[in-house]
Amino acid sequence: METKLCKWCGSIVKGRTDKKFCNDYCRSAFHYKQKDEKPEIMKRIIRQLERNWVLLGTWKKKGLQSVDIKAARMQGFVEDCYTGVETKNGKRRKLVFDRAFVYEKGGGVIRGI
Ligand SMILES: [Zn+2]
Repeated sequence: METKLCKWCGSIVKGRTDKKFCNDYCRSAFHYKQKDEKPEIMKRIIRQLERNWVLLGTWKKKGLQSVDIKAARMQGFVEDCYTGVETKNGKRRKLVFDRAFVYEKGGGVIRGI
């Protein structure tokens, strides 16, 4: 049987053949470190996507049909930060995960929330 070494501390792993870590501490330390090693740019974009997603939800809850782009930016919205694009009823909407908005450059408002 081949000897397997813990992916975190390098100790010999005993037990099931599919085990990668010697214990729970090593497993969570490894996964925490991996999470932590995302490049700063990635962390920043993820934070911004979350911010946009929360704002879209907040505006929808308030029943707003449109939000002035300047007001949106003041609240931390960045219109160039989205996860995808879809066309619905002939209109291109930008997606932030499961929430959508329409922003036409020069239009001055975020719509279709
Ligand atoms: Zn270990």
